[in-house]
Amino acid sequence: MEFWKKRTPAERLHHIEKALQENVNFSKDASLGYPASKLDGKVFYDDAPFLKDAPVLMTFVANPNHIGCHTTGTSEKAFKGTQQIERETLDILAVDIFGAEKNQFDGYIASGGTEANLQALWMYRNNFMKHFGAQPTEIAILASEDTHYSIAKGANLLLIDWLSVPVGFENRKIDKEALNTMLAVAMEKGKKYFIVVCNMGTTMFGSVDNPDDYCEVLENYNVPFSIHIDAAYGGFVYPFLAKETTALSFKNPKVSSITVDAHKMLQAPYGTGIFICRKRLIENVLTQEAQYVEGMDLTLSGSRSGANAVAVWMILNTYGPNGWFEKIKILQMRTDWFCQQLDQMKIAYFREPNMNIVTIKSAFIPEETAARFDLVPQKHNDQNQWYKVVLMEHVEVDHLNQLLEELKEATVTVTT
Ligand SMILES: *Cc1c(COP(=O)(O)O)cnc(C)c1O
Repeated sequence: MEFWKKRTPAERLHHIEKALQENVNFSKDASLGYPASKLDGKVFYDDAPFLKDAPVLMTFVANPNHIGCHTTGTSEKAFKGTQQIERETLDILAVDIFGAEKNQFDGYIASGGTEANLQALWMYRNNFMKHFGAQPTEIAILASEDTHYSIAKGANLLLIDWLSVPVGFENRKIDKEALNTMLAVAMEKGKKYFIVVCNMGTTMFGSVDNPDDYCEVLENYNVPFSIHIDAAYGGFVYPFLAKETTALSFKNPKVSSITVDAHKMLQAPYGTGIFICRKRLIENVLTQEAQYVEGMDLTLSGSRSGANAVAVWMILNTYGPNGWFEKIKILQMRTDWFCQQLDQMKIAYFREPNMNIVTIKSAFIPEETAARFDLVPQKHNDQNQWYKVVLMEHVEVDHLNQLLEELKEATVTVTT
């Protein structure tokens, strides 16, 4: 670990206070040109006594705007203190967790996984258009049927097709033969450039794609492609539990960008989706017309709160790498325990061993039970075949036991 450390509360407070001092202070400084200020003082009192010990809230009230991207070029100097906190946060994620080389990546804290995925698709679409002379109709996204719907959103916005790759019903793995056939058909129809989205933990199953499945088939056809990893949910789980994660990191030269959400497993406030990509790619989405923004703009969002960067930095530096590993390990143990109970009850489910999601076949779960425990169905219609249990921090063995007791009592006709 080059950047990631556990720090004491005093160290964290001091670090954030120092960063805020380097920002413009709307309470004191003569700052006349920005359409920005601290939060409304009648509603958000900046002299509330608890703020002095609460770095994230203090930043929230100071209201820094992190508009633009701060890993390359110049940035708005008024917020340079907290922009540095954002860079430190990205260093931990890109280098220490996802194996990037120091200073060899760009990125920013987006509004969420959706925006980070859109940013990736937008960047690759433009890259193929600018550097390969591609037409949007010649570009296609390849991603499994279990992929998050933000990819469908992106395909729609960017006017490129998404080819949804089927997965095995039981193992949720990419059907390579189907992929091969789809690709042949797509190329016949004029697709020449491919954007691959590999999942590190799908939303419904926690399933993890193997990028080599895509690479083998695409290399066989000798077509240009780029790989994005959607680790929105799994990015703070899988890398800590799996023995071998090289293929799904920047150590794999074929991977060029990653999405990870801090507002899911990391329990940061909403608005903390992280986008990271290799150097010399993000320029493809430069908006030169953003002339009032120092350094112009390389991000999908415009104004965004610097307090989000501070929140993610605070969580990471409160746990440190070992503290985070222990926390995730406990969730894995609970998931193991839950799966053992299901095995004993002969209830069928899918689970990726290095993830904390258990997706149970709906035939084993009465609808009232699913509703009582807020289990999420794969489909909100009569086609549903699965319900998932996500072992977040608040999901303890006692809660799981209540569900198991109900399932034991339920006289379900098992149809599978
Ligand atoms: C949640 C999720 C997203 C979208 O993230 P938001 O933060 O809700 O925008 C994208 N991909 C995966 C795999 C997710 O689990």
